[in-house]
Amino acid sequence: MLKRRKGSLFIISAPSGAGKTTLCKKIVTTVDSLVPSVSFTTRKPRGGEVNDLDYTFIGEEEFREMIAGGDFVEWAEVHGNLYGTSRDRLEGLMDSGLDVILDIDTQGARQIRKLYGDGVFIFILPPSIEILRRRLEKRRSNSREDMARRLGAAIDEIKEYNNYDYVIINDVLKDSVRLLEAIIIAERHKTERTDKSIIEKILA
Ligand code: ADP
Ligand code: 5GP
Repeated sequence: MLKRRKGSLFIISAPSGAGKTTLCKKIVTTVDSLVPSVSFTTRKPRGGEVNDLDYTFIGEEEFREMIAGGDFVEWAEVHGNLYGTSRDRLEGLMDSGLDVILDIDTQGARQIRKLYGDGVFIFILPPSIEILRRRLEKRRSNSREDMARRLGAAIDEIKEYNNYDYVIINDVLKDSVRLLEAIIIAERHKTERTDKSIIEKILA
């Protein structure tokens, strides 16, 4: 593989329950030099979620201080909680040459596109709204009201798919993982992402 100087960004959005957390967790184990961006959030941890691994869980006051300090490259209120991507974390990972996968909502993705126009934007869809509802129910980690709110937001979120470079319909999980791998690997080999110094050496 041609060596690249700086890591790339892969931005994944989807309506809640479509399976993006599952896909992001899997893909970092199958694709080398790809790491997740761990977001900050004011949401309470779900059972099994680990601080600083799934999210960094903080209070609203601390989150607002981070906004005021310009600590986020993007942040948004999603389903009643605040979520944000730390500038230092993201830049640190990219500077070390790693590619970073961001599981963020459509508002955050729009902010990232303005700052990192060369990011790769991928939208995950459920096969149907009925399947989305079943997946949200299966997860059983949200209250009834929260689940209704997430389902209610799904249609508006899905309408944003056109702002993304790729769409994956997450039906059979292993097929979706293969598709995501294919997208990431193909994007890594784009001419503009290759390290020109290696080509210069070949030519020298
Ligand atoms: P999101 O992060 O998009 O909100 P999750 O990754 O938490 O969604 O997935 C929601 C639920 O659906 C989880 O219980 C997960 O195991 C399940 N799930 C994810 N992808 C699939 C799939 N392709 N087929 C069946 N169930 C899936
Ligand atoms: P959940 O509460 O289900 O983990 O996530 C809810 C939503 O917040 C999802 O759409 C997820 O992609 C989004 N999200 C997670 N982290 C961030 C972040 O750092 N920034 C933004 N804008 N959205 C995020």
